[in-house]
Parts: sequence; structure tokens; C-alpha cells
Amino acid sequence: MTAPVKTLCPYCGVGCGLEILPVAASASNGSTEKGIEKWKVRGDRSHPSSQGMVCVKGATVAEPLGCDRLLHPMMRDSLDEPFRAASWDEAIDRIVAHIQTVRLTSGADALCMYGSGQFQTEDYYVAQKLMKGCLGTNNFDANSRLCMSSAVAGYVQSLGSDGPPCCYEDLELTDCAFIIGANMAECHPIAFNRLRRHHKQNAHVKMIVVDPRATPTADVADLHLAIHPGSDIDLLNGIGHLLLKWGAIDSPFIDECTSGFADYAKVLEHYPPQRVAHLCGIQPEDVEAAARYWRDAQQILSLWSMGINQSSEGTAKVRSIINLHLMTGSIGRPGSGPFSLTGQPNAMGGREAGGLSNLLPGYRSVKNSQHRAEVEQFWHLPSGQISAHAGRSAWEMITGLEAGLVDFLWIAATNPAVSMPDLERTKKALRRSPLTVYQDAYYPSETAAYAHILLPATQWSEKAGTMTNSERMVTYCPAFRSPMGEAKGDWEIFAEVGRRLGFAEQFQFSNSADVRSEFIQLTRDRPCDQSALSHAYLQENGPTQWPCSEAGQPTQRLYTDRHFLTPDGRARFGAYHSKGLAEPPDAEYPYVLTTGRLYGHWHTQARTGRIEKIRQMHPNPFVEIHPRDAQKLGIEDKGLVEIRSRRGAACCPAVVTRAIAPGTVFLPMHWGALWAEQAEVNALTHPIACPDSLEPELKACAVQLAPIHTASTDFCKTSQLIPAIRDVVHD
Ligand code: SF4
Repeated sequence: MTAPVKTLCPYCGVGCGLEILPVAASASNGSTEKGIEKWKVRGDRSHPSSQGMVCVKGATVAEPLGCDRLLHPMMRDSLDEPFRAASWDEAIDRIVAHIQTVRLTSGADALCMYGSGQFQTEDYYVAQKLMKGCLGTNNFDANSRLCMSSAVAGYVQSLGSDGPPCCYEDLELTDCAFIIGANMAECHPIAFNRLRRHHKQNAHVKMIVVDPRATPTADVADLHLAIHPGSDIDLLNGIGHLLLKWGAIDSPFIDECTSGFADYAKVLEHYPPQRVAHLCGIQPEDVEAAARYWRDAQQILSLWSMGINQSSEGTAKVRSIINLHLMTGSIGRPGSGPFSLTGQPNAMGGREAGGLSNLLPGYRSVKNSQHRAEVEQFWHLPSGQISAHAGRSAWEMITGLEAGLVDFLWIAATNPAVSMPDLERTKKALRRSPLTVYQDAYYPSETAAYAHILLPATQWSEKAGTMTNSERMVTYCPAFRSPMGEAKGDWEIFAEVGRRLGFAEQFQFSNSADVRSEFIQLTRDRPCDQSALSHAYLQENGPTQWPCSEAGQPTQRLYTDRHFLTPDGRARFGAYHSKGLAEPPDAEYPYVLTTGRLYGHWHTQARTGRIEKIRQMHPNPFVEIHPRDAQKLGIEDKGLVEIRSRRGAACCPAVVTRAIAPGTVFLPMHWGALWAEQAEVNALTHPIACPDSLEPELKACAVQLAPIHTASTDFCKTSQLIPAIRDVVHD
């Protein structure tokens, strides 16, 4: 019998272990008679993070591997022309010539690359070396900017370094889970299963869910606080106010291990329960109940995700969560601590490899001269080669295109023509790009329509590399299928361009094991030390948590010694009053739109839209609206609704439900132009971002609603490829 291949699920940041087996005996190489591969997927019981569990996304992950693949490079001169097939040499020569011209005419800062939390760490690392090292521009950003950058900024400012302090075992050791801005049951289902089992089996364990929607997560909570969107800091300060008033704080910890408590305590004076209840739209007793749960828990675990991060004050929200842990000393202990739930499978690995425009590998900063010097020396590059300025963030690449300051855009493994805010503006800017390369596994996609060059990339299952999940667990993911067509690994493509640009010495990698061996040397003695975790080590020892130096052991929890990574070793309180939503509702746009994900779909449906079972599970986009609002507006259940913001409009059927609070509506984020007519949620959202993390407020904007009375069936043609987009294929 064939031994299963052990790997990691390539969807969400929970990072579940999978076992993969070819289906038929006749297909021991994975091939069927039609040349389409079939694989059986099951949970890997030996993977410490998921213990054999797997959700519908992981279970069906092998189904779309052979569908709609980009098989060879394609090119065109302008966006109005059809693509024509090209050779790799032609495509790379054109990219190299264009980069050289731009460097000479406009300078390196006119070059941009936009990558993805779908990358393996090896892909991220080689991209950093090319852009930040060899080309001398920090204009590399990733879609993690839209996802986790507020958590990164919050950890760095409060604790002195990025890195979630907790581990999944804490889900089973806590007395109280405080879930804020995360619908774990749908978006991080296997981590939620571990928590839910513990909650069910132990009567004393409490679960608090803070969410404007009554989600499946909220349904099983002991306390659901349906606060107004954007009022998180008010609630967090209100809990802090009561803990301080009741003396439920850890004074020795505050005195010995933190700084800034006096200023924080002054801010808390302004948040008595009556005021907090008014600001948040809940009852004062609910604020008190939440604070009581915090007070009574020996171990308390906060869990958050996009509802906190995707905010114009995301960093302040993250720090306000961490404040509660610092004032109660509940950090660095089993079952306790602030724990961000990463969105993508390897956004964590991206952070480790320097995959945001302000970072360098090994949790270094581009603004730190010593960090730059260390990396330049290691990469054998001249002193001063790495720019001292943060590069363009994801949205700043769009505004750079608008201003004519970006002459080259290289997009890989992400779909900004669906996922960026203010989509019409985004698309208009993309059309202005003098040359856009789009590197991906699938075709068609919404973003391919804005590219001049398409490069076929291998995806999960076809390339070997590593990914890190939310609990800092690094897993080796082997290649177990051959690349399709002429597809190449992302890192291989970046390295080839680097060599042809004249940096042969910097890109002498024979395989991804070489890439990882080089990268982990840059983590030595850094907070994310994984200098022991080579491909060979991970293959032999299985998934391993960092920090893990060559001399040391894997580390389950951070800060157990209560020493933080700030210059004085103390964690810092951050004192904030909330500024509220960047675009609050008003007379013209009286409703707050909040956005989110569904259990079966992944992001912009590049994979899950091609899986029949998931399409049936979520057949179309919808807008959730409270019965009171629906009645006022004459909107019926299943009736079509136009949702309009200051930037654009979307249309979809209504789900009239008490699960959403009056005054708020909800749309899922998965439907781009490829999968539905006029249902793009980001046609509505705005790009105003947190000033510290530069993460846009994708979670909330002001909208107006109106019923659509039409017999037309053009709206919401869903769950099938839209022919107009498919027709751009001319190869
Ligand atoms: S919970 Fe996330 S990582 Fe686990 S199987 Fe589901 S999608 Fe994959």
C-alpha cells in the first residue's frame, strides 16, 4: 500500500496537517485515464495542530488542482489585445528588459511586486532578495497587508516583536475564550473545534463572542456582545475600567514587567459601563458580565482576526486587547494570552521572511540601519543597497499607479482585482500600469484581465517548501505531483529574473531546500529563530514550532520568562480612545456594511469556485439585513437589493434575518466579477487605513439600500465562470 504524503492544508492560517493518497490502484502515479489526477485527502492524526481534523476546504483541496490551469506564459502589448502564447525566454527577456529600462529612467522605486500569503516561505524569501536586496527598492508588499499587518504592528509596539505568544494547546487549557472580531466556527473551523470541545466538556469554561453578527461562533457562546461595528476599543476599555475598579489586576506583574500603565489607567477612567453600553449599543449588564468573566478566569485567552485587524484603528484595537492581558498578567502562561488567528496559510512565514514593505528577513525592519547592514552583508551586496525607507504598501501601489509613479507591477498568487478596497478605483489604476506581470496557477482570473504578461506558477502539491501556521508551527510541504504544463515555482521565476539581471551569485539555488537553508541562517538569534528547521530537519522531525535554534528546543509559548523584546524588557501599555469608523453612517448612507467569509469558500474562489460541492454549499452572494430595516425599505427575503456606497454598487438577494443587528448589513467577500454579476463587495469598501499598520478598513463602510424590482435574471448569475471573462483566453 502506498504511504500517504504528509503535508499542510494550503487554505487558512489554522494550518491543518493533511494526508494525501492517490485514489485508484491503477493511478499510483496519480493519473486517471483522462489525465486528470484524483487524490484522497484526510486529516493527519500525527499533526500536532489539527490532530486529524479537517474542514470541507481541506477535505476538497485536491479537486481543483487540474482545473483551469495556466499552462504556459502568455503575453500581449496592450490590455485591449488578446493574449498570445509565449515561451519562458520571451516572457523573461521582456520582464528583464523592462526592469532595466525602468531602473535607468525612473529609478528602482518605480518597480513594485505584490505577493501573497499563499506563497511558501521560500518564495517569499527569494522575492525579498530580488526586490529589496538586488534591485534596491522596498516596494514588495503582500496581501497580508490586507489581513494581518495590524496584528504585526500591535505585537511589535506592545511586546517588542511580532509573533503570536500562544499555541493551540491553550484552546484546551483556558478558562475563558474572549473571541473578538473573528467568526472562528466558519473561518478557523478546526481551531474552533478544539476550543468548542473543551468548552462543551468543562462547565466552568466560558466563551465570550464580540461580533455585530450572530454568527455560528456566537451561537454557542455564553455571552454574545453584538456591539456596533467600530466600537471595539470602547468595549475593551470598558472591561479594563471595571477590572481596575474591582482591583482585579496583577500589580506585581504591572510593576515589574510593563511600562505605561498610569497613562492607560487615566484613559480607563472615561469608560464606566453606562457610557460603554451607549457607545457599543449593548446593555451595561453585558459589559459587566464580560468583565466578570475576565476577572473570574484563572487563564484567559483572547482570539481575534479580521474584525479587529481590518480597521482604520486596527493597531490600536490590537494593543487594547493586549492591554487587558498585561493588566491581568495573563500572558506567557498555559491557557492565557493574546492570540491572533492568521488568515492565510503562510502569512506567518511571509512575516518571518520579511514579506511586507517595511520588513526584512528574520523579523528585521528596513528602518533599522543595523538590520539593513546585516542583511546586505549576508547577501554579499554593497553597503547602502537596501533602502532605508519603507516601500509602498498594497494600497500605495494603487495610488502610485494613479500618480504615474509605478512603471512596473509584478503580481503573484493573489487577486487584487477582487480583494483590494474601492475596486473601481483599483481597476482604473491597474489599467494605467505600463507593464503588469501576473503570475498564478489558475486562469482565467479577474486580475489576469489587467496583465500584459501571464506566467504559469506551480501551486501547492507541485512544489516543495515550508509554511508556518498561527501557532508558529513550521510544516514541510512536499511536491507530490508534477507541475502542470510549463508551470514553474514562484521562487524559481524570481531567481531566474535575478540571474538575468546580473545577480548570478545571489541566486545560485538548485532547489527549495537550498533556499530554506540560506533563509534560516538569517533567523539565527532573532525572535523567530528557526535556524534548526531545514527541510531535512522538518522531514525527519515533523512540524516544529519556532523559536528553535540549532542548540535549542522548539518553543510552545513565548514570554514565559516575562521578559519582553522591547529595549527595557518591559511590555508597553498603549492608551487609546476610539476614533470610531473612518466612514460612519449618515443621512445619505445610513447603514453600516460589514464584510466577511463563509465556511466553504476561500477568498476570491480561485480554488473553491471550481469545486462543485462548495458551489452548492454557497450558491450565490447575499446581503443579510434585519427584518426591521427590510420592512422599512420594502425589501423581501430573497428579493434583489442594491447596496450602494460613495464608491460603487453591488446587487444580490436579501437574507432577512435577526442574526444581524438593525442598522448593519453583511455581505460575504468571495464573489468577484468571475463568479457573479455586480456582487463585488469591494466595489463598496474604502481604502482608509490604520496609520500604523496601513491595513485598510475592509470590514466597514457606509451604504444605502434599495429593493430592485426587475424580471431580469442578469443579476447574480453565480457559481459559474462568467463567459465574458473566460473569452479573453486566446492562446
Ligand atoms: S481549518 Fe483551515 S487549515 Fe484546517 S482544513 Fe480547514 S481550511 Fe484547511
